[in-house]
Order: sequence, then C-alpha cells, then structure tokens
Amino acid sequence: MASYSQFLTKEKEDELRAIANAIVAPGKGILAADESTGSMDKRMASIGLENTEENRRKYRQTLFTGSDELGKHISGVIFFHETFYQKTDDGTPFVEVLKKKGIIPGIKVDKGVIPLAGSVGEGTTQGLDDLNARCAQYKKDGAQFAKWRCVHRISATTPSQQALVEVAQVLARYASICQQNGLVPIVEPETLCDGEHDLARCQKITETVLSYTYRALNEHHVFLEGTLLKPNMVTAGMSCATRPTNAEIGLATVTALQRTVPSAVPGVVFLSGGQSEEDATLNLNEINKVAGKKPWALTFSYGRALQASVLAKWAGQDENVAAAQDVLLHRARMNSLASVGKYTGDETGDTAAAQSLFVANHAY
Ligand code: 13P
Repeated sequence: MASYSQFLTKEKEDELRAIANAIVAPGKGILAADESTGSMDKRMASIGLENTEENRRKYRQTLFTGSDELGKHISGVIFFHETFYQKTDDGTPFVEVLKKKGIIPGIKVDKGVIPLAGSVGEGTTQGLDDLNARCAQYKKDGAQFAKWRCVHRISATTPSQQALVEVAQVLARYASICQQNGLVPIVEPETLCDGEHDLARCQKITETVLSYTYRALNEHHVFLEGTLLKPNMVTAGMSCATRPTNAEIGLATVTALQRTVPSAVPGVVFLSGGQSEEDATLNLNEINKVAGKKPWALTFSYGRALQASVLAKWAGQDENVAAAQDVLLHRARMNSLASVGKYTGDETGDTAAAQSLFVANHAY
C-alpha cells in the first residue's frame, strides 16, 4: 500500500494544531451564529421581524459588539457567508470586531442537507465541488476554522449503512480540503434528537456514527490534532417517555466518546440540538464532571442555546441592544463554567432559559 504520510507540511500542522487548541482553551467555547438565510426566517418570525439583509445585520451586530468580556468565554464565532462580509454601522467588518475581542472567526462551508436517494428519509450534505476555492478565499479573508454539518436520524431502520458510509466520507473529504487550506475543520455528524428512542439507543447510534467518522478521517489522512468534533450529546429522543437525568446524559455521552474518539483530537464542541438553554448548560456541566478518562476538552458550540433569549430580549428594538448583549454575556459565562464542570446553577432564575428550543427535523 503506497502512502504519503507527510501530506501537510510541519508548519501547516503546527498552525492547525495551534488554532484548534486556542478554540478549546480552558473555559472557552464557540458561538454558532451561522444560521442560513432560510433558518433566519424562523428566528426573525419569532420576534415578528421581516427577514431582510439589514435586519440580519443588525441582529448579528447586536451579538458581536457588546462587552470585550465576551472574548473571555467565547473563543470562536461561526459565520454564515453573508455575515462574514457584513460590517457594523460605522463600517468595521464583523470579522475585525471579533478579532479585537480575541475571538477567532470561523465559517460554515457546507451548502445544506439534501435527500439521499433510495434511503428512507435520510440525507447527505452538499458543497464539496468548489470547496477548495472557497476555503482558500475564506482563509485569505480571515477565517481560521470551518464547519460542515451532516445529520443522521434514528428510527427502527436508520441510520442505514448507506448513510453511515456516505456521511463519514463527505465529512472526511471536507476535513481534508479544509486542512490543505489552513482551516481547522469542525466535523459535525449530528444525530438528531427527533424520535421515540431511549438513551441507550442514542448512545449506540452515536458510537456507530463516530466510529464510521474516525475510520473515514483516518482513511483520508486527516491530521486529527488539527480538527475538532461537533457531536450531539447522547440524550433520549424528544418523544421518549423516559427522561434521563442530566447526570445520566453526561455519563452516556462521555462513554460514547471514550469508545470512539481518538485522544489525538484536541476537543469536542457540542451542539445544543434543541435543548433548552438551561439543559444545555447543565448537561455540559455533568459531562465535565464524569470521572474517568477524558483526553479532550469538552465544551460548547451552541447556536440556539446561546441565542434564544438574546434574540427574544433584542426583539428588533435599538433600545434593547445593551440588555440583549448582557443576556449573551450571561449565557456565555454560564457555559464557560459548565465547560470546566463548575456550574452551580443560575442565580438569575431566568425562566426563558428553561424553554425547550426543539424544532422537528431541524435544518441549519
Ligand atoms: P444548535 O446549538 O442550535 O443545535 O446549533 C449548533 C450548530 O451549529 C448546528 O450546526
């Protein structure tokens, strides 16, 4: 078998390793603000605002222009293409605003989930064709990492072998192309929480998905030290009558990772996947409290669980911007504590934080 083990230069490996380690520095995690224009439709509708480019810009400006303290808890922000090139009212690119706070810019590079022909409701993710050129341009324009989301759904017959293989392959090709362009790939094989399955079935499926994923990453010679994993937490399906405790979720999640994620991977950055803000924080805290082998940083890369109450507080009104920014900082602080297992409950008793953010068949 011919192989070329040194396919990235030492300098490129060092660069990728340094970016990945900075993103998962202790007490830090990612703000996923990469909702596509279609997903923003739902967000804007929830506060009765029209989904215009200007309204999206004003909302993202609210997220990015608050206190510099955000950079103590948030290491990276994932942008959608449009937002990556947007500017504040005074003409400063968002990318520069974040860099000044010490926050690393990242970019969503997938082009969405499409049906996998012949499967029962399964999908794959498109966007590989021009990915090399897009990654080169994003890197030039300041991005240091990328994200690509794939989804699996649990039913009596899924995920199928076809979907497991296809999703792992497409993630591996994406990861390889990113690394050749100096971007740390966040590898996201999300197992959706839709369904009636219990915790044990979610754990088994998550283990299977991750084992296919790392086999493919290795087959494609991906430099694991310069990657991050973005998985679902192991939870029971939303329609399962038996609700596991936060501690049970923590243990099932860490066990699944121990069995499948190589220790060369520097960090695991969980998605929130429709959990309430409070549950996403509590579960992350329990994950970090599990005793035993945890050779990776275990932190957050939340979209809904960092933004839902911020969006509600902002409500499209200029006079609410400062209050909304305070809410974001608060959620970032709480998740920062949870990422080191030191969250002891929310003294503000915010009821919005306890609301479920579940959306069936969620797209991003
Ligand atoms: P949620 O935290 O809202 O699940 O989204 C994170 C994300 O980036 C999904 O791709």
